[in-house]
Amino acid sequence: MRIKKTEKLDLISGTYRSSLSSVINMIAIAPKFIKKKMIIAIGEMYDAVYPIASDPKSISTLSNDKLDSLLSEILIRLNDRILQYIMEVMEGGIYPISDYVTDNETDDKGENIIAFTDEDIDGMDLYDRINRHTNNFKLEAEAFIVAGIANKLSKNQVVDEWIKNANKPYSSELIKEAIKSNEYEATNLKAKGFSYGNGVQKSSLMGLTLVVQDSLFRFYNKTLNDSWLTDGNILGWISIRNSSFPCQLCDSESYIFHPITETFVSWHRRCVCLCVPIYKDMI
Ligand SMILES: [Zn+2]
Repeated sequence: MRIKKTEKLDLISGTYRSSLSSVINMIAIAPKFIKKKMIIAIGEMYDAVYPIASDPKSISTLSNDKLDSLLSEILIRLNDRILQYIMEVMEGGIYPISDYVTDNETDDKGENIIAFTDEDIDGMDLYDRINRHTNNFKLEAEAFIVAGIANKLSKNQVVDEWIKNANKPYSSELIKEAIKSNEYEATNLKAKGFSYGNGVQKSSLMGLTLVVQDSLFRFYNKTLNDSWLTDGNILGWISIRNSSFPCQLCDSESYIFHPITETFVSWHRRCVCLCVPIYKDMI
């Protein structure tokens, strides 16, 4: 069933659209935060590798249990920082917006947030999804660190090289040279930036960003839905394309009625569709 465009729907979608923009603006600064925390972590990893790097080309974290556990400790801290950031944004950023637009005062915010982050999707909770990308970061950072040490770069120079290339780590000249030399044992240098099954290694910053932004967007829509469930006049919702680019999928889903028992997730990765409640008198 498609919902007809009316003045009331226009009014409601206008209000929800401006709330969604606030959420999107908030989510847009996530990469900056994530990158900052990754910069701290790669510096710490450099400090862990340097003392044992008399022969940097022979270093492979995955075949050195002691080094691997040192780096894993650093990555656990990174995971915790990112998870904590997500939870803070949920509590202090997303909830105020969703409570405002739905005119609701949600109880049990903390419990809801924990239930959301603990939720198992395809065998992984949010921590596991973060961890998958920080594990990629371990091998990405290892490549920069051993190639940097072999080229007599200081910690700051290695970190700067990573910062410059964080979106496309295997385009770094340092990394390209190291791969070409064929002299390194580091996993991603030996594998020439490829990993089995995944094709070319993606940027771990981009991977982490996607996980964080996707979770926050989904959480926002979930808080809306939770609140609508407490309003007996709301029967369901529709989505409306919100991106300025035409999208066949989002357009084809637009204005289709969904019962309140369904929650809007997204129609595709990075989808920013607007989700609007439908009241009894709008059907
Ligand atoms: Zn969409």
